[in-house]
Order: sequence, then C-alpha cells, then structure tokens
Amino acid sequence: MKCVTIRYLTSLDLDSFIEVARTVPYQRINSDLFPGVEVWIRRDDLLDPLISGNKAYKLLFNLLEAREQGADTLITCGGAWSNHLHATAAAGARFGFRTIGIVRGERPQVLSATLQDAERFGMQLKFVSRDLYRERSQPAFLDLVGLEAANSIFIPEGGANFAGAKGVRLLGELIESTLPISFDQLWVACGTGLTMGGLSSSIHSFPVCGVEVLKAGESIRRDARHWHAALKKFPRPPDLGQEWQRTSSDTDEAPSAATGIKLVNEYHCGGYAKYPTYLREFQRSFERQSGIPLDPVYTAKLMFAVSKEVAAGRISPGTRMLTLHSGGLQGRRGFQLIK
Ligand SMILES: *Cc1c(COP(=O)(O)O)cnc(C)c1O
Repeated sequence: MKCVTIRYLTSLDLDSFIEVARTVPYQRINSDLFPGVEVWIRRDDLLDPLISGNKAYKLLFNLLEAREQGADTLITCGGAWSNHLHATAAAGARFGFRTIGIVRGERPQVLSATLQDAERFGMQLKFVSRDLYRERSQPAFLDLVGLEAANSIFIPEGGANFAGAKGVRLLGELIESTLPISFDQLWVACGTGLTMGGLSSSIHSFPVCGVEVLKAGESIRRDARHWHAALKKFPRPPDLGQEWQRTSSDTDEAPSAATGIKLVNEYHCGGYAKYPTYLREFQRSFERQSGIPLDPVYTAKLMFAVSKEVAAGRISPGTRMLTLHSGGLQGRRGFQLIK
C-alpha cells in the first residue's frame, strides 16, 4: 500500500489546489457486486472535508476569478440539500469571501442540515418564491431578488458555468496524469452533464460513461456536448498549472459529433433524489463490503449502475473500470440509510 498524505485545501491558488488534488487516492474495490471485472474508485470525496468532490473543481476557477476581480462576495443558488451551496459556503469561509445563498421557497421552521451548515459557515440565506427562483439563469436575476451585484460574483446553480467546466477539465487532466494502472473505462454520475462534458474533453486514454441520476430526456447529453465543445474551443493556456502540462493537440477535433459521450439512463431509480429500497440495500452492501461511503443521490446510483451493467453482461470480463467518487456525502443526512 502506498502511503498518501492528505493535505486538504488550505490556500486559494491553482498550484496548491493541483498539489492537493494529486494526492487524492485511488482504491481498488473488493466486492462481489462486480463479478469478473476490476473496479477502482478515485476518492474525490477525500479531497477536502468540506470542499469536496466535483463541486470543489467547479468552484476553483470561479474563486480564482472572484479574487482576481477583487470581488468580496460570492452569490449562488441551490436547493435545501445542495452540495454546491454547501461547498460554496465552506469555500467562502475558508478563503475569505462573504457568501449569499439564494434558496427556493419559504424559509422553513427547521432548516435542512445542509442549510444549517451553510449558515454556520457564515452564508447569508435568501429565500425566494418558486416563481422568482425559476428566473435563476436570467441576467437580471440578482436585480429581481433584490441583491446588489457590486463587488460580488454570481456562480450559477451547481457551479455550471465555463469556469466550472474548466475546473472539471483540470480534474480530467489530473486523472490522466495520476492513474495507478491503465483503465478501460471511467464511470461518473451525471446531474446536469457538465462533469461528463468536462471530463470527456480532457480524458483521452479511455471512454467516459455517464450514469444519469434523474429522468432528464436529452438534456444531459446536450449539456455534456455543450461543455465539451466550449472547452475544446478555448484550450487551457499552457502556463496555467506549471506542475504538469499536457498538450492540447486535439483542439480542432469536430466538437459535438465525436465527443465519445456515452450515457446510460436506466438507473435513475424513479427520479432525482428518489431512494427506493433496492437502492438503499445496494448501498448498504456496497458500503459494508468496500468500507467506502456513498451518497444516495449520485454515487450510490453510479455504483448501482456499474453493478447492474456488469451483471447484465454488458461489460466484458476483465474490464478495468475506474469510477469517480464525486463527493456529496454531506447529503446523506437527508436520507434514512440502513445501518
Ligand atoms: C453535482 C454532483 C454531481 C453531478 O455533476 P454534474 O456536473 O451536474 O453532472 C455528481 N456527483 C455529486 C456528488 C454531485 O454533488
């Protein structure tokens, strides 16, 4: 066993982020839930105790831009159990930004554990009507909810902007440069599809497969393609992140057609945040056998999908599958888990 020193995110600059992200462990999963194949997991849930998973990567360039612009406040929005809201509140507290979280609906009598944390981290919560919340992608949104945009940056729900996508591209580059063995496939959980699009733009040694965690129609594929194409259009300046440099020789690749984006949509288990008994039981078996905690919304469905695909014979024996632990463990508190 290689010994890893986990360092956590203690300062806001690209090189130290990369240094920390390079120490994220890869773990082989020992479990009879994946017979005949080799399953590994990259533990980005361990990147940092509070700013973890894919949301940390989506925040990175947003935070760097905020600092560069001299902004002192981060404004964002999300639901009562939002991993993004939680990570943004923690990042603001850690790196010295005020934070404002716009939340849908009336302020409840008792806040969710996520929102309690957010307030404890110093985030100011602003509850807005469902009608207003629906306008969250309009440029006038802050005006509409009565917030002052001066000295602040607005980060969209889930960290889904170009800066967010750049962070996920960085994750893909880090994955390519830290693999413990060679893999045949990478599997990730998809909410919006941004993570899928970002990873597929920077991972070239094997295909990326996405598990849709909600009934999304074509929107996840569309978003993934959109971010993939956007990133290809604006390659990373080579002087960014000096520790490791990759060449972007494939920037003129046909953008939306040949993205190699593969999605499976049979494992949403009834819809977003739906948690039927069979998923609950799967999660318990997985956690007992592997010792790795999952979140019911994203990573439990990811591992469930991988297990089912293997069982259905759609993955050839001996395939080396890498999965991404995209974090979200704070959200476990919103569910009744089997002990
Ligand atoms: C937000 C989130 C995702 C989904 O990311 P997208 O980029 O929206 O597809 C996956 N896993 C976890 C734990 C998340 O919090």
